Amino acid sequence: MKKCLIVLLAAVLFLPPTVAGAARNHPALRPAGQVRTMKVTAYCPCRECCGPRACGITASGRPARGKIIAAPASVPFGTWITVPGYGRAQVLDRGGAIRGNRLDVLMPTHAKALRWGVRVLKVCVESNGGT
Ligand SMILES: [Zn+2]
Repeated sequence: MKKCLIVLLAAVLFLPPTVAGAARNHPALRPAGQVRTMKVTAYCPCRECCGPRACGITASGRPARGKIIAAPASVPFGTWITVPGYGRAQVLDRGGAIRGNRLDVLMPTHAKALRWGVRVLKVCVESNGGT
């Protein structure tokens, strides 16, 4: 009986990678969210990125500082999105060109925004309410 238990324990601890992978992809173990392929560009609070009236305030009223994502109006303010290479940030801004499957991530400097370029990425849009 005791030997049986040890064998079972060993089986749980040393699951083949395929089984472990399946467990990791189980919906219950993933953060609630929707993976979407989106075109991601970057911007900074400068005049070149935000126009001659740039004043460092996002469309949500928050200062354009730290990690902020601009998304189409279909994504409510406050939604968390994880962007590979950028990280997890909240949607707090909008943009004239940000429509459809587009995102704009805020960078601290114009050089960093330029370096980001245009990337097509699989982003994770978290369901609202999960902060
Ligand atoms: Zn800029």
